[in-house]
Amino acid sequence: MKLIYTHENKLLVENARNLLQMEGIETVMKNEFSSGAAGDLAPLDTWPELWLVDDTQLAVAKTLIENMEEQANGPDWRCNNCQEINGAAFEVCWSCGNPA
Ligand SMILES: [Zn+2]
Repeated sequence: MKLIYTHENKLLVENARNLLQMEGIETVMKNEFSSGAAGDLAPLDTWPELWLVDDTQLAVAKTLIENMEEQANGPDWRCNNCQEINGAAFEVCWSCGNPA
């Protein structure tokens, strides 16, 4: 297993997991439920982490993650359905599931 992605925003990590899953790449999420209970601990210790199950898929997985991060640098968008603000990495509204 290899750590391929971590971010303080759990929604972004989940988004990465979904993205890889769509490509048939199996991952495991760690620290999924630790955020919010971090207190004064170093934030990095409690960031959700995405681990790659099959190391032979590392190159493909990394490319997908890089593409996702490039997209994430774009502008935020507002959902037409619930008016929630979404990061550019999200292809559907994280709140209600409405497409961008
Ligand atoms: Zn929405």
